Amino acid sequence: MHCPFCNTEETKVIDSRLVNDGLQVRRRRQCINCHERFTTFEVAEFIMPGIIKSGQLREPFNEDKLRRGMQKALEKRPVSTDDIEIAISHIKSKLRATGEREVPSKMVGNLVMEQLKKLDKVAYIRFASVYFSFDDITQFGREIAKLQEKEHE
Ligand SMILES: [Zn+2]
Repeated sequence: MHCPFCNTEETKVIDSRLVNDGLQVRRRRQCINCHERFTTFEVAEFIMPGIIKSGQLREPFNEDKLRRGMQKALEKRPVSTDDIEIAISHIKSKLRATGEREVPSKMVGNLVMEQLKKLDKVAYIRFASVYFSFDDITQFGREIAKLQEKEHE
C-alpha cells in the first residue's frame, strides 16, 4: 500500500490486530521512506447483489421488504423471531455466495420458499399462493401434493 504522505510504494506493517469482535483487521503501517505512520482497516466485503424484477426493472436488495414478506406469511404461526432472522441470514448468504452483481427476483422468492418450507408449512403455502403467478398454479398444486405425501410418510 502506498504511503498517504509521500506516496512511496513501500510501507511496512508494524502491528496487526483483530478488532470489532474479529470482523476487522487493524494494521499499523510505517512508510519506509518518510517514516510516517498510518492505520488501515480490512473488512470483508458484504455487498448484496441487486435485484432484477420482471420487465428488467432493477432495485437494490431490501432486507426490510424481505422480512416483511416473511413475517406476513408467518403471521400467527408458531415461529420465533430468532428463527426468522436466521432464515433471513441464510437467504442473504446464499445471495452473496452467487457472486453475482444482480440476481433475478425469482431467485430471492425461491430462497424464501425454501426457508419457509423448513420453518412452517402453512406459511410456506401462504407465501407460495401469493408469490406464484396463475401460470405456476399447476406446479404449486404439485408442491402441495408433495408436502401431503411427506406428512403421510
Ligand atoms: Zn512516506
